[in-house]
Amino acid sequence: MFERTLAIIKPDGVRSLVIGEIIRRYEQSGLIPIAIRLTQLTKEQAKAFYQVHCNQPFFNDLTSFMSSGPIVVLALEGEGAILRHRDLMGATDPSKAAEGTIRKAFGASIDFNVVHGSDAPETAGKEIEFFFTDSDLYSRTE
Ligand code: ADP
Ligand code: MG
Repeated sequence: MFERTLAIIKPDGVRSLVIGEIIRRYEQSGLIPIAIRLTQLTKEQAKAFYQVHCNQPFFNDLTSFMSSGPIVVLALEGEGAILRHRDLMGATDPSKAAEGTIRKAFGASIDFNVVHGSDAPETAGKEIEFFFTDSDLYSRTE
């Protein structure tokens, strides 16, 4: 299925200067960027974005980290984009991520795991809307 997904290069990825390397991996696996922005979330925005995790013990640390510096947000498009992007990212905990994945290569720990990716079509739609309006999206299919 042709899909869109939201990717975030988290503050640790931006700080360690791997934006280019990560976007190269997206492009080389057929995940085409159709919108890109460097931005910084407020703590409130980070809490809204990660609302689904609001009862988790890591919620405060996660939202502080996500608002601690600039991030790069991308909408990616491609065949099976949501799962393909999750495969490319690797497991949430970098120490458990497969060889060759982004989190294995650049993630320091489960708290600092470099990238975010949508996990299903409904969340992908909502997460893309969180950052982009329709006129920001430059689909190749339109
Ligand atoms: P993913 O980012 O792989 O979809 P989740 O949606 O479960 O993972 O969690 C969102 C983010 O919350 C993770 O990327 C990670 O930064 C953080 N997180 C998840 N689980 C933990 C945990 N047990 N301890 C600390 N941080 C966590
Ligand atoms: Mg998730």
